[in-house]
Amino acid sequence: MTRLADRISRLGVESAFDVLVRAKTLEAQGRNIIHLEIGEPDFATPEHIVEAGKRALDEGWTHYGPTQGDPELRAAIAAHVAATRGVEVGPDRVCVTPGAKPILFFCMLALLEEGDEVICPNPSFPIYESMIRFCRATPVSVPLVEQRGFSFDLNIFRGALNDRTRMVILNSPHNPTGGVIPPDDVRAIAEMIADRDIVVLSDEIYSRICFDGRPLSIATLPGMLEKTIILDGFSKIYAMTGWRLGYGVLPPLLVDAVNKLMVNSNSCTASFTQRAGIAALRGPQDAPQRMVEEFRRRRDAFVAGLNTIPGFCCALPPGAFYAFPNITATGRTSRDLADALLNEAGVACLSGTAFGEYGEGYLRFSIANSMENLLEAVERIRRFVS
Ligand code: PLP
Repeated sequence: MTRLADRISRLGVESAFDVLVRAKTLEAQGRNIIHLEIGEPDFATPEHIVEAGKRALDEGWTHYGPTQGDPELRAAIAAHVAATRGVEVGPDRVCVTPGAKPILFFCMLALLEEGDEVICPNPSFPIYESMIRFCRATPVSVPLVEQRGFSFDLNIFRGALNDRTRMVILNSPHNPTGGVIPPDDVRAIAEMIADRDIVVLSDEIYSRICFDGRPLSIATLPGMLEKTIILDGFSKIYAMTGWRLGYGVLPPLLVDAVNKLMVNSNSCTASFTQRAGIAALRGPQDAPQRMVEEFRRRRDAFVAGLNTIPGFCCALPPGAFYAFPNITATGRTSRDLADALLNEAGVACLSGTAFGEYGEGYLRFSIANSMENLLEAVERIRRFVS
């Protein structure tokens, strides 16, 4: 083997996995590390969902299935999207994929060309920018503003739009800040792009992990469903990260393209996993509700704790399971402080810059760990900083 194709050099990575490896190495040396780096719920998949998965294996759901997804699951998803967003979409608009990540990847592959621009919140999930660059398009970073609850400055957003803009990415509740885009901002953004040939990628993977009501999906606004990709899935709300089950609700043109990309890559999503997904959507919802309530308790206690640490200032995140404190008053850079907390205080977290340049001055902590560990982390950080 002599060389890799150039396109591989355009792919980025998720530094959460790098930090996890470094934390594990320290643990192997006997160090005690509190893991607040990885963005996955620390809860078990609810039992009735696990049972449905096992039953599906026994019943023989172990073969190839339809590329677009199990028709019964697609119907359940369409009903769920109608109930949660109030938009009528048929199962024909639903594409099921192994996790929600392929929806990102496939829709970008299907839509973006060299020279196209994609408006991307910054900081944000690093896979957006990686995929945009992989497709030879250009990410246009629009900073999120802490004073606006980590929403856009709408004037800057407007200024970033031009004739090359092909896609706008919205993520609400947001990784890494936990911010939720205020409904008025969603309406203003919809108005700005209504007459343009722009597709919105609305990443709603955290839509049900929201502590004050539901975020407004841009797909529900007049004329927007036809130009919006709703991305959602089972990883976060049902603690099913390892099952790999996600979906997109897509404009019809994209459905065919995503099916083609699926046939050329995965063939289909695992059949028994999809049966478990039906049980998740149609079964009792008390386990996810309990999980969200527990995240709220942890968020309140952890953020209050962070705010007692000299140099830390953390807004209360209205959604997702992350805290994103401003640490500029510590006088250290984000990367330097994140490294020191791991190596010297035994707390693994991510530098805000792992999510883009405008993440400088912040750290991301996942609150997907026990209350006891979260409070211990606060004490370790306080001891280190003082
Ligand atoms: N979108 C965001 C903002 C995320 O944080 C994640 C996972 O971390 C995903 C999408 C992808 O989720 P999955 O592929 O596990 O469904």
